Amino acid sequence: MVTRSALIYLSQREGLKDFATRFRPFKKVTTRFVAGASIDEAVEAIIRINSDGCTASFDHLNESVTSPAETEAEVREYLQILSRIDESGIRSNVSIKLTQFGLEIDPELAYRNARTVVEDAARRGNFVRIDMEGSNVTQKTIDIFKRLRGEFGLNDVGIVLQSYLRRTFDDAQDLLKLPARIRICKGAYNEPPDVAFPDKKDVDDNYVRVMKLLLSSGTYHGIATHDPKMIAATIKYAREAGISKDAFEFQMLFGIRRDLQLRLARDGYNMRVYVPYGKHWYPYFMRRLAERPANIWFVLKNLFKG
Ligand SMILES: Cc1cc2nc3c(=O)[nH]c(=O)nc-3n(C[C@H](O)[C@H](O)[C@H](O)COP(=O)(O)OP(=O)(O)OC[C@H]3O[C@@H](n4cnc5c(N)ncnc54)[C@H](O)[C@@H]3O)c2cc1C
Repeated sequence: MVTRSALIYLSQREGLKDFATRFRPFKKVTTRFVAGASIDEAVEAIIRINSDGCTASFDHLNESVTSPAETEAEVREYLQILSRIDESGIRSNVSIKLTQFGLEIDPELAYRNARTVVEDAARRGNFVRIDMEGSNVTQKTIDIFKRLRGEFGLNDVGIVLQSYLRRTFDDAQDLLKLPARIRICKGAYNEPPDVAFPDKKDVDDNYVRVMKLLLSSGTYHGIATHDPKMIAATIKYAREAGISKDAFEFQMLFGIRRDLQLRLARDGYNMRVYVPYGKHWYPYFMRRLAERPANIWFVLKNLFKG
């Protein structure tokens, strides 16, 4: 869809990113999808999420960093998050992006940085999820994940696969042999048709196919979606295959379909909310608008409300 592609394109424009980040009125609309600028605000949001019966995953927003010094600051931020989780007793793990740790500068740097965070999480009995980004880094992300998974346990580090990618079913089969904990999502980037299914129906069919493979694997996975059809298919398949509610978790994004998050938690499903925070919110925020262009009206209305 043109609007979706246009919004994802805008999400990657550095000039707009700088403008938007400095433009004060944007701050109040970003709170729709972003928990705040600081760890403290994210912790506050997670306390509320936990009290609703859901767990969380921290995401410090800052993808595609360009200097090694910046990647070191990201590592320090994540070590601080892991320490804050222990101090505050909140129920949360962490999600990282490898471009945030230097994947586009030097994959070895990204590996070393991710390793530092996974090692600290493992020592604390916590878990690091490696988010999946654009298809230009899919293989590099999987390679680094496999290295880390070779050094750390199943419950220390996991990965994400995107059902819009044609390669994903094969990747899932391959990664399950390790075994690996996988989050399946639909995918949020602009991808060419030779790499990703252009039709929503194919993306959804592939989602269900991968979901069934994951649920039948006996490993604990994350089913990340706000799509009632994907959720219903998961519940139905689990019921039919005799897979218990605590053998997997649903995952949704902060601020999206909170009603559904609460309903699934009340129905006894494990529900994890992904909680982004930080001042580099622009690309994440634009991808959320791209998923549901109706959100643009929400933004415009609030920007000019005074
Ligand atoms: C926990 C979690 C982690 C994720 N991690 C990654 C990742 O690592 N890599 C990656 O590429 N993508 C990631 N995503 C994003 C994902 O790929 C999709 O872009 C996003 O979840 C929208 O797809 P959907 O499954 O909700 O279904 P869709 O078919 O897009 O949407 C289904 C319905 O959900 C609601 N909805 C969806 N998005 C929005 C929105 N922005 N605002 C309001 N309502 C909405 C609407 O009611 C919509 O009709 C993640 C998503 C989640 C939930």
